[in-house]
Amino acid sequence: MRRTGTVIIGGGQAGLAMSRCLTERGVDHVVLERGRVAESWRSERWDSLRLLTPCWQSRLPGWSYRGPDPDGYMTMAEVTDYLERYARSFGAPVRTGTTVESVQRRRGGFLVTTDRGVWTAEAVVVATGHCGRPRIPAMARDLPDTLLQLAPTWYRNPEQLPAGGCLVVGASASGVQLADEIHRSGRDVTLAVGRHTRLPRRYRGSDIMWWLDAMGVLDESVDDVFNIAASRSQPSLQLVGRSDHASLDLGVLQDAGVRLVGRLHAVDGDRVVLGDDLVATTAAADAKLRRLLGRVDRFAVDAGLEGSIPAAEPIPPVEPRPAPTAVDLAAEGIRSVIWATGFERSYPYLKVPVLDERGEIRHRGGVTEVPGLYVIGLAFMRRRKSTYIDGVGEDAEYLADHLLDHLWVGRWAA
Ligand SMILES: Cc1cc2nc3c(=O)[nH]c(=O)nc-3n(C[C@H](O)[C@H](O)[C@H](O)COP(=O)(O)OP(=O)(O)OC[C@H]3O[C@@H](n4cnc5c(N)ncnc54)[C@H](O)[C@@H]3O)c2cc1C
Repeated sequence: MRRTGTVIIGGGQAGLAMSRCLTERGVDHVVLERGRVAESWRSERWDSLRLLTPCWQSRLPGWSYRGPDPDGYMTMAEVTDYLERYARSFGAPVRTGTTVESVQRRRGGFLVTTDRGVWTAEAVVVATGHCGRPRIPAMARDLPDTLLQLAPTWYRNPEQLPAGGCLVVGASASGVQLADEIHRSGRDVTLAVGRHTRLPRRYRGSDIMWWLDAMGVLDESVDDVFNIAASRSQPSLQLVGRSDHASLDLGVLQDAGVRLVGRLHAVDGDRVVLGDDLVATTAAADAKLRRLLGRVDRFAVDAGLEGSIPAAEPIPPVEPRPAPTAVDLAAEGIRSVIWATGFERSYPYLKVPVLDERGEIRHRGGVTEVPGLYVIGLAFMRRRKSTYIDGVGEDAEYLADHLLDHLWVGRWAA
């Protein structure tokens, strides 16, 4: 049995940022990672994916992008390299190939059992990611076995798919990007659209992420929003990171030949039942977009940028063509379904009573009810940017301070 001050579970950006902050504070710790550093970026993303955040927006405690293309978007190999170099830069004590199998409370701290031995620790930080596993609706099980079903986590490239049409369910960042790529491979693509967040890649001469950063939108905290549960379940941004900085929205996809349909409601054999809601969901996304761009325009005036930046460019609303409310997959030659329906988390190893009825960790800004147990990297955990590479660092600084206090109190009491 080995002993350490803190066990961090997960060696992605969140675990590494936490490790960096604990290193700075002189806290003895280990990072236990079941795969390699940045494993999710290596093995749970498709081949062509680039970050949708620009390279400059990858600031971590003590680390930032210094490459030749700050306004570009990193490939997965580049993100992995970026995080590997980060881990090396401060000698992060990462134990790769080590899966945490259980975390139990014991007097004065925790017992952490892995497939490579047991650790005792005064504190544990769960950094296993917000996008732990795909969230696939139960109706997927009712689809015929003849269809290939994938989630973005398992999709790599269009060659994986059988010839024929493809139904992509979900029109957030992953859904629109995969619909585009699969359509470009020569397949007919139907995209089932639910609630989504439309954004232009660039606006008035700057990347939209630059505007969100400059305006402080990404810094908004849990206290700044009316309904944190709603804010935490916001769809991901409909963006793509491409060298031409092009926007990818439903209008672009429809013009290219992707068929837009409403939300997928039910499966009945080969038939899928769709909502008659496409006009409403696209209109809602357009209204939200207009409100945001209005906010950008007002910010530009207040910041004295007006006159030195391009004028506001009109962004036409998406005008969906009439869509069917049911599709017979077999009759239309649709042979594959991609469930781009979001992610969920699961913590089978946590033998500590901190999960709510949905299986999510109960926490306040990453601090759980169990003294010494923390979580980091969840969506809107403390701020809107908490789950982004660029945002996790601030949370790590806060939690490291909290954790240090916990260790001091515990050691003093002992
Ligand atoms: C498709 C996609 C695109 C994204 N694009 C961007 C983007 O452009 N910009 C941006 O800022 N963010 C983006 N994100 C969001 C976020 O940055 C990523 O999800 C990122 O991987 C989160 O980092 P993390 O460290 O919190 O979790 P992860 O990177 O998922 O790391 C968790 C680690 O925990 C390990 N682990 C899990 N269980 C155990 C266990 N029991 N024992 C030991 N180890 C374990 C895993 O192997 C993994 O390495 C994107 C997310 C997705 C899904």
